[in-house]
Amino acid sequence: MATKLLLTFAICRLIVTVGLTLDPTELLLLGVDAQLSVDPTDVKAASLDFGLLIGAQPPLAVMHPASSQDVAQLVKAAYGSNFGFTVSARGHGHSINGQAQTANGVVVQMSGSKGGSGMASGRKPPHPRVWPQERFVDVWGGELWIDVLRSTLQHGLAPKSWTDYLYLSVGGTLSNAGISGQAFNHGPQISNVHELDVVTGKGELLTCSEEQNSEMFHAVLGGLGQFGIITRARISLEPAPQRVRWIRVLYSNFSIFTSDQEYLISLHEQPTSQKFDYVEGFVIVDEGLINNWRSSFFSPHNPVKISSLDPNGGVLYCLEIAKNYHESTASTVDQEVESLLKKLNFIPASVFTTDLPYVDFLDRVHKAELKLRSKGLWEVPHPWLNLFVPKSKIADFDKGVFKGILGNKTSGPILIYPMNKNKWDHRSSAVTPDEDVFYLVALLRSALDNGEETHSLEYLTNQNRQILRFCDEAGITVKQYLPHYTTHQEWVDHFGNKWDRFYRLKMEFDPRHILASGQQIFTPTNMASWR
Ligand code: FAD
Repeated sequence: MATKLLLTFAICRLIVTVGLTLDPTELLLLGVDAQLSVDPTDVKAASLDFGLLIGAQPPLAVMHPASSQDVAQLVKAAYGSNFGFTVSARGHGHSINGQAQTANGVVVQMSGSKGGSGMASGRKPPHPRVWPQERFVDVWGGELWIDVLRSTLQHGLAPKSWTDYLYLSVGGTLSNAGISGQAFNHGPQISNVHELDVVTGKGELLTCSEEQNSEMFHAVLGGLGQFGIITRARISLEPAPQRVRWIRVLYSNFSIFTSDQEYLISLHEQPTSQKFDYVEGFVIVDEGLINNWRSSFFSPHNPVKISSLDPNGGVLYCLEIAKNYHESTASTVDQEVESLLKKLNFIPASVFTTDLPYVDFLDRVHKAELKLRSKGLWEVPHPWLNLFVPKSKIADFDKGVFKGILGNKTSGPILIYPMNKNKWDHRSSAVTPDEDVFYLVALLRSALDNGEETHSLEYLTNQNRQILRFCDEAGITVKQYLPHYTTHQEWVDHFGNKWDRFYRLKMEFDPRHILASGQQIFTPTNMASWR
């Protein structure tokens, strides 16, 4: 009874706020009412994200779906109603710029519904289902990658391609790409999906794959949530390694650093024994960050002094590599690592090695999260900027940004690692530079209100703008990863030759622009002028 009253209240707000003539009983008749919430805690949570940059208006209601059908019913109602309302899927809300938010509509909270949200129906989304023979797993779109891992490990299997942090939802990362140090070898996460169930912007539930509704399949992968809500993904698996040899080596010369990174990713076709399983790297411009928050790799009791490695005190680059192994092959791992390291040209005596269980390696950033949380440094604004930089321009980027614009303070980790474009399916909606090899440069900075100008949100936001302007003026044709633009023309430029298809498919699958309006690519159709 209380739920019904709250829901009626939510619908009245929908009517008042956007001038709908939707009959409240229309939504009540959907049979999803027990999954809708206007609880102020739910609504507030759905109006925030990891970026903490924009104070978006809260949504009108939050849905905690238990099935694809719940999602389909809601979207169908939005699409079919005379005046309509927007619907945004929200995974774990780890976007930076409000991409999972919607002010005048309903947020579908895909992750966390199993955690006992208190919804009256008591129904919950399905658990992961592993197919050991076929080596894939079917997961709910809101499943967090950490839970996907836990389920598949019970069968000795694991997904092949990861993000550095596992508390992200499957639907959220597949809407972007999902990248980490395995991408050079296995491609991004979107290259490791067999099949999807998707609720389109018309409320239809489609199964899609290479063979079935293939245009939809490719559009949704990297599609920024524009064509449908992913309710199920079938993800490719491999036998899970047991342990990881995790190594960091340092460079003071950028061109030697990138040559070594490019050499390592060129080995992707080699047998497993002759390549690393993970290749990343990061930039060190201030001494404090050699022991950066992304891991406690370097011992806090034995901090590495930049000056001891580079007497000029300039920028250092850290190559981060890892080799997976099974306890049964432990005897050969030293030799394999040794022979790969011999081919590299890092600063002698700058090899730092650790050995740990596979799960601990994959879950490494969560440890840092717990530490930052305990110091109140996690829930702060994150003006992050992620760029794909073509290989031919990475040296210009180094000169202009790492050795120029950044000065000697970074306010957070700066990742840099290359990927092979041939591991990305050009039919997906994800956008990458037009070269065989391109780099991810991830400026993962946190803004602090501690009185230091270089830590302030305003300073870091201005610096991001300066970096983009510099790239533009220097002819460095970067593509934003996890893109954020506010004008139509910027989106058209971002998608380049993919724009026409992107637009056509949007008109086909979400003609009222109901979905993921927080991306600010399409404006929801003026409700009153519809039909
Ligand atoms: P949300 O923020 O909830 O949603 C993101 C977008 O996807 C929104 O537009 C939303 O509407 C849409 N969406 C969400 N669920 C669905 C669905 N089921 N169907 C359709 N659309 C949906 N990314 C990497 O690639 N590699 C990394 O190593 C990496 N590390 C990160 C570490 C941290 C600490 C953080 C905060 C982010 C990191 N990211 C990384 C970025 C992350 O992949 C994206 O921000 C991703 O979108 C977050 O997932 P989410 O579940 O929180 O998505």
